[in-house]
Amino acid sequence: PSAVPHKPRVFCLYPIDDSVREYAEQHFDFTCEPDPKVKSWREEAEAVMVRSNTITPSDVKVLGPAFKFVGKHGVGVDAIAVKELKERGITVMNTPGVNASAVAELALTMSLCLARDVAQIDRRIRSGETVTKAEGGLTGFQLTGKTLGLVGGGNIGYQLGKMFHGAFGAKVVVYDPHLHPSMVQKWSDLLSSSHFTRVGTLGKMLEVSDVVSIHVPLLESTRNLIGEDELRKMKKSALLINTARGGIVNEEALLRALEEGWITGAGIDAFSIEPPTSKDFGRLISHPRVLSTPHIGAASLDVIRITALAVIDHLVEAFRG
Ligand code: NAD
Repeated sequence: PSAVPHKPRVFCLYPIDDSVREYAEQHFDFTCEPDPKVKSWREEAEAVMVRSNTITPSDVKVLGPAFKFVGKHGVGVDAIAVKELKERGITVMNTPGVNASAVAELALTMSLCLARDVAQIDRRIRSGETVTKAEGGLTGFQLTGKTLGLVGGGNIGYQLGKMFHGAFGAKVVVYDPHLHPSMVQKWSDLLSSSHFTRVGTLGKMLEVSDVVSIHVPLLESTRNLIGEDELRKMKKSALLINTARGGIVNEEALLRALEEGWITGAGIDAFSIEPPTSKDFGRLISHPRVLSTPHIGAASLDVIRITALAVIDHLVEAFRG
């Protein structure tokens, strides 16, 4: 009889639905154990699937000898000790692009809501206030014909640019000194030079944009990328959207920018401390022209399922070598 094929021992450290589990079980000796207290994955696993889980340098030290791969659900690998894993010959694979449209849709939603002050007006009506447009202050602005500025023109930035251009005829200005040649090609296939500009400095983009949306990873080079100087360069009427990572925008400077009117509003899905609470961000999250969400950018049902399947496919390919 032919040998029973070796099914790699894979642990998933976050909850998945039954159909994803069944798919994983076809390929792996599979355990889905979202309880972080369960230690056995470190000793037993040949690979793990992680979503927002942390893999620390001390975790890496105790990994068993058969451990080969980390499959990251999503893009950002800042919670994973990539350097230490690499030193042990372990590969970290993420799923770029799979969640891009979900995050872009959230950035678009925040832009639309802030532009017309929808959330604030709704909150006032709910609280029993009689709100009429005649009282003024409820005018807002449209996105049609405006300029979208992107910090980062990768997968998510590209999807958002496509939505802004397709829906509103917006111009797109990208600041991304490291843009991959394949993305440069995608942008030039999508937009003509009259609607697409790539600028060499962040300041140039900030000065001309009506909505500035951030889509870069959190790196030493992007930490505090948007601080007081940058916020002061933005138009007073502009919106800042951060669905990337906390730490990229300096939140103290952002609060001052909003309170002193350097910019008009901010949509924040990524905070330096998560989830955002009034203990840490009282004045910022209660500001009338701030919209906050607790890192839900990629958390649509469609994306969770598709991304988990993509992580499994990457692992299957990697084990096949
Ligand atoms: P991507 O890798 O496709 O694009 C990132 C782009 O950032 C690249 O083009 C890169 O060249 C550029 N970049 C890197 N350093 C830069 C710098 N200093 N200045 C300007 N540009 C720089 O990634 P993506 O899929 O578009 O995701 C972007 C980020 O969004 C991720 O790194 C992650 O942190 C975040 N994210 C958040 C959520 C959420 O739930 N809110 C979900 C997915 C991703």
